[in-house]
Amino acid sequence: MIVSCVGIGIGAGARIAIGDAYLLCHGPVCVTPSWISPKQVDREVARFRQALDAAARQLVDIREQIPASTPQEISEFIDSHLLMIEDNAISSGVINLIRHKQASAEWALQQHRDALVEVFEQMEDSYLRTRKDDLDHVVNRVQKILLDQNEPQVGNLLGHIVLAEDLSPADVIMLHNQQVSGFVTEYGGPMSHTAILARSLGIPAVVGARGASRCLQHGERLILDTDHGCILADCPQSLIDYFQDRREFEQQRAVELRKHRDEPARTIDGRRVELLANIELASDVESALQNGADGIGLYRTEFLYMNRLDIPNEEEHFTTYSEVIRGMQDRPVVIRTLDLGADKPLPGTRDGSGCGNPALGLRAIRLCLKEPELFRPQLRAILRASALGDVHLMLPMLTNLWEVEQARAMIRRCMQELEYEGLPFNPNMPVGGMIEVPAAALAAPAFAEALDFLSIGTNDLIQYTLAIDRVDDEVNYLYDPYHPAVLQLIMHVIQAARAAGTPLSMCGEMAGDPRFVPLLLGMGLHSLSMQPSALLDVKQLIRSYDLDILQTTAEQFLERLYSGEPFSPLN
Ligand code: PEP
Ligand code: MG
Repeated sequence: MIVSCVGIGIGAGARIAIGDAYLLCHGPVCVTPSWISPKQVDREVARFRQALDAAARQLVDIREQIPASTPQEISEFIDSHLLMIEDNAISSGVINLIRHKQASAEWALQQHRDALVEVFEQMEDSYLRTRKDDLDHVVNRVQKILLDQNEPQVGNLLGHIVLAEDLSPADVIMLHNQQVSGFVTEYGGPMSHTAILARSLGIPAVVGARGASRCLQHGERLILDTDHGCILADCPQSLIDYFQDRREFEQQRAVELRKHRDEPARTIDGRRVELLANIELASDVESALQNGADGIGLYRTEFLYMNRLDIPNEEEHFTTYSEVIRGMQDRPVVIRTLDLGADKPLPGTRDGSGCGNPALGLRAIRLCLKEPELFRPQLRAILRASALGDVHLMLPMLTNLWEVEQARAMIRRCMQELEYEGLPFNPNMPVGGMIEVPAAALAAPAFAEALDFLSIGTNDLIQYTLAIDRVDDEVNYLYDPYHPAVLQLIMHVIQAARAAGTPLSMCGEMAGDPRFVPLLLGMGLHSLSMQPSALLDVKQLIRSYDLDILQTTAEQFLERLYSGEPFSPLN
């Protein structure tokens, strides 16, 4: 049986997974109203208390199974759920409903949860509002015990291929720590942050495989072929052998590519291309170096906020950035300020902004400028880190020039504070911005003047230009980097940056995709930032090209494209 779906996972060594299926039940529990007789009240209260105890035991077990290498915030996250279980405000409200309304334990818990959520939602403080999701996690766990629907224990996932309805980027970090072989989700597109993170962490994954968990059995042997987006089940041994051989071949190829790691990415006519790495965690520095990165072109700092309830403070930001900068040994490091919101919500929230269309909502620089108490510790930490190496600060999702002005004003204020406190920083730290909204691409000449460098974020630029939600697998087929509108915007940004003499890079997934690299080079982009596992493949490709030829071919290609001549990108 073959379940066809969308494949993700380009890059050496992360294309094939073989393992047993692990069905992860992630959805909420459905509870219907039910009542008990007065005689059953004491027994029901006891049943509820036992469920609370069992939930607490589950959490303690999970905490004990977390490997020592796991970031501390993950165990803190579990501790906060334990505290919620022990909190009287939850248990006494439920027991009251059981005693006085004779509601069943499940129904009482559900009603009490709804009442608490109403209170959370009315709170002014956005952080407190984020507690709603944690409450839901805790309630869900207790409900599953009451209804006898036990969840698999974290810790049993080693070597498995996890099947889930959907996974957040935070879940992917958990799965990585559990050393899963791969994962499959029913929802989500290949440009979602969940998919990007899987590629970056080298986890083979297939996303958007609707119906997969209905078709597949817990425990059955699966093969993921992410190049083709296939999940193979019920395979004969000969097919398993074939994929094992392919996996070994990929590994050998990665070893071969690694031999050229320290050679520069230079075309055959001698033009140097800068190849940078995109990272999410400080620990990704190792893989950036192993794959010969010239520096970090995009450090997605918002991952510091995941799998925890509290907000990291300035010291934590600073310590993490210092680790990255020291690890990169004088190479440039572009630290992107928080891009929280949309599919990377603030800790504990689902949609980040609470609005119906989070990708268009209070995300990234918009959130940071609205909530200076969130932004300021990060700005101070980046400035302090700038004293340790070649640090660049990059602002995400710019739409208006005044966002640059406001951010620069905050940076200046932070500089004054640090100076007053006697803390070192680089007063000339370059401040750049991401061009990932069509408005910013069209206004690129102004942004190129206002900023010290630019980086094109094609993941969002394509999402916003073509009006397709990057996490929605239903419209994934429209995600087209070859669309004339997308390429015209990219060309416009390249020309604007060149005219202003402003350094330009690209850090969207397109930059690390061998299908687009020759076109991008021909269009005039000479700095590309990508997931570390794509670097060596792309370097090998660049070393086989003549830039003059690429330029001529790109010009002809764009001319035909803009004139509306029918074409196939494969020709
Ligand atoms: C992008 O949008 O292309 C980008 C690099 O940023 P992110 O994927 O983190 O939104
Ligand atoms: Mg983006």
